[in-house]
Amino acid sequence: MTVATPAVGRTALHRPDTVEEVLDLLAEHGEDAKLIAGGTAFTILWRAGLISAGHLVGLSGVPGLDRIEADDDVVSLGALARLRSTEISATVRERLPVVAAALGHVGNLRVRNAATWGGNVAEADNTSDLPCLLAALDAEVRLRSRSGARSVPVDEFFVDYFETALAPDELVVDVRVPVPSEHCTGSYVKFLSRNAEDRTCLGVAAFLQRDDDGNCSAARVAAIGAGPVPLRVREAEQGLQGPVVSPDAMRDVAARYVAAADPLSDIRGSAEYRLRVLPELVVEALTRAWAGHDRAVLL
Ligand SMILES: Cc1cc2nc3c(=O)[nH]c(=O)nc-3n(C[C@H](O)[C@H](O)[C@H](O)COP(=O)(O)OP(=O)(O)OC[C@H]3O[C@@H](n4cnc5c(N)ncnc54)[C@H](O)[C@@H]3O)c2cc1C
Repeated sequence: MTVATPAVGRTALHRPDTVEEVLDLLAEHGEDAKLIAGGTAFTILWRAGLISAGHLVGLSGVPGLDRIEADDDVVSLGALARLRSTEISATVRERLPVVAAALGHVGNLRVRNAATWGGNVAEADNTSDLPCLLAALDAEVRLRSRSGARSVPVDEFFVDYFETALAPDELVVDVRVPVPSEHCTGSYVKFLSRNAEDRTCLGVAAFLQRDDDGNCSAARVAAIGAGPVPLRVREAEQGLQGPVVSPDAMRDVAARYVAAADPLSDIRGSAEYRLRVLPELVVEALTRAWAGHDRAVLL
């Protein structure tokens, strides 16, 4: 049962017990309601006065949203699944080894113990690592509201800096990640320009699939820090298909990512600096993916 505890100032705090109750609150209060999952991003924005709401809706008591499940083709990461639980999940380590390894480089243990998938994708920080991996893996975000359910491809979910396709009355229910085929290997390269605890300056995820003859039959590459949303240049990916993934082919792909990138200048590096580092990371991620790395590396 939903209880509105004594108001914090003029803000009511709700603790729903079911998804249905969450959806009712969102339907009733719309933009005046804000969800709180792990609170790692929310707390910073709230304290800085960058968001306000008449109703705060704590999700931690809602059962079932923290499940990590898999079938033959898809791993489903519940909106309330913690990043740390995902990192150490045997299912994720086996089916999505690059994601599990990359999670080990997200923030610090304290952050990962609290942070959730739903919060990460809803925050839509352009330097978050997970959207980059989700983009390269062709994942989908499943949403629910009182008016129904929908599944949004990651390409369409992230719209702009800190902006998503989420409507004010929608809840992220889970993120569905297609399991790469057994002939596909990948790599995530995370570049930090300041210190080990800093947010990512640039990140590149690459997945390459081999056919029975050892040729590259499919390539997927995504970059973050290179623009408002994870960057994928599909025409460039097609250039990697064929008998040989050569250093020249990788350089060509890297140049096309640079041409499509539109980074910001910030404390982690100027736009010009990012455009100079990006091609090196694309080549590094592709080289590691083609070598069967299936891990994440911090540079
Ligand atoms: C010190 C620090 C370091 C970090 N380093 C990294 C890093 O290296 N890489 C990286 O990828 N990320 C990093 N992060 C970001 C971190 O992963 C996110 O803050 C976290 O995943 C957000 O999840 P949360 O559960 O805490 O969300 P909250 O803070 O609770 O919520 C964040 C936003 O999502 C909304 N929301 C939450 N759940 C839902 C839902 N189910 N449906 C709809 N909306 C929802 C909230 O209303 C809020 O707007 C870092 C964060 C911190 C504080």
